[in-house]
Amino acid sequence: MTQKTGRCMCGAIEYIFEADRKDVIVCHCGQCRQWSGHLWASVNAAFDKLEITKGMDRLRWFRSSDAARRGFCRECGSALFWHGDKIEGRKERIAIAAGTVNAPTDFYQGEHIFQDDKGDYYEIA
Ligand SMILES: [Zn+2]
Ligand SMILES: [Zn+2]
Repeated sequence: MTQKTGRCMCGAIEYIFEADRKDVIVCHCGQCRQWSGHLWASVNAAFDKLEITKGMDRLRWFRSSDAARRGFCRECGSALFWHGDKIEGRKERIAIAAGTVNAPTDFYQGEHIFQDDKGDYYEIA
C-alpha cells in the first residue's frame, strides 16, 4: 500500500489516500460521460483510507443516482470522486479520478467498463 496525493485543478482541494490497487478503470457509461465530459478514469480505494487534507468546505456532492454520489470542487469544477452508497456487509469503496492524482502515480490502465453504453462518437481500441 502506498500513499498517494492529489488535487483539483485550482488547488482548493487536496487529498491523500492509500492506494491498494494500481489499475485505472475507464468507465464509458452515459453518466460518467456527462459528468467528466468524456470518460471517467478512476482508481478504487477504501473509503476510510481517503482523507481530504485541504478544502473540505469546497467539496460538493451531487447525487447522480439512487446508488451513488459524485464529489467535485465547487471552485473549478474538477470531478474528483465517485462514491457508491454503503452496502450492508461490504467494504465501503470510493473511486478517485486518476487524472487528479499527483504524478508519479505508478498506475496503469486497466479495465474498460460499461462499453455497451459508450458514446457514438468514438471507438474503443
Ligand atoms: Zn478546485
Ligand atoms: Zn460510469
